[in-house]
Order: sequence, then C-alpha cells, then structure tokens
Amino acid sequence: MMTVSLGGGQMSRILGVNRANAKPDDLRRKRSCYPLAGMMSDLEYMRMALEEARVCAEAGEVPIGAVVVRGEVVLARGGNRTIRDCDPTAHAEIVVLREAARRIGNYRLADATLYVTVEPCAMCAGAIIQARVLRLVYATDDPKGGAFRTCFELLTSAKLNHQVDVTPGVLAEEAASLLQSFFAARR
Ligand code: ZN
Repeated sequence: MMTVSLGGGQMSRILGVNRANAKPDDLRRKRSCYPLAGMMSDLEYMRMALEEARVCAEAGEVPIGAVVVRGEVVLARGGNRTIRDCDPTAHAEIVVLREAARRIGNYRLADATLYVTVEPCAMCAGAIIQARVLRLVYATDDPKGGAFRTCFELLTSAKLNHQVDVTPGVLAEEAASLLQSFFAARR
C-alpha cells in the first residue's frame, strides 16, 4: 500500500469518497432509529425464518424462509413451496403474506414486519408494496433477481406512494451458506 502525506483538503475529499463507497447497510445502520432490543428481535425472527428455510431444504425446495410479525405476534411463518404446490408464485414471502392477511382478515399488513432469508424478487417486492408492509428485514442479497438493490431497486422508487423501511444483511452468511450447500448437494 502506498503511503502519502495529505493536506486537509485532500483528506476530506478522500473521506468523502469513502463515505460514498460505504455499503448501504452501513449507512442504513447508522441512520437506524431502532434500539438494540429491536435489533435483538430482528436476529430472533431471522433465526425463525432460517428454521423455515431448513424445512424447505428437507422437502427438496430451494431453502428460503419467511416470517411476518406484528407487534410481538408472529402472524405467519413458512417457506418456499413452489415445487410442492406446483405454483410459480409460492415464494416464501407470498406464502406468509397470504397467511398473515387471512389471519388478521385484512389484505393490508400496515404495521407488519416481513423477515425473509433472501432479498425479495420483483414479484415479492410487488406483493410487499401491495400489502403495505411497514418493514422488510432480509438476510442475503440475491445476485440473480434481488429487487431491493442487487438487480432492481423496486422498493426505493420515489414514484411509489408506499415506502418500505428495509434492513438488509441480518444473518446474511447463514442464509447464503444454507443456499450454497443446498445447491452444492444437487450438483
Ligand atoms: Zn419472490
């Protein structure tokens, strides 16, 4: 690494560049107004979603799990079931949003948080907006179709009425390694 001596202006320019290069998670975490207790809950609920993902893997489904929580109540938990249901729309997010909406008798899930082990696809991002989900917490990015930031930025469009508060990267390594071992076993 090259060592150079910098004047104040150069240094602040470099710090500016560093800030611009910071990952969105880092910036989001700094801006987050959720207390530590909230973060603990995020971990607990994401662990629950990961349990659901493991159940999927045992059933031969791509291991993606999800949980819907409102207040302290788990309204729904489940996983991807596209093969079992012979249903291309049976992604984990759709499965739990449907169940949660039925349970509360309202297709709007305005105060709910959706936990999912993988960045939602375009279809699920659409469902999240339709359901007016308050918060989305997900684990690992999806380079093949993630619609929060990886392939598309559907949830942050300024044209949308509804804005979802998104926390990415919670237990990302666990979720990614679950997917990797699932696909490795299939090769
Ligand atoms: Zn999806």
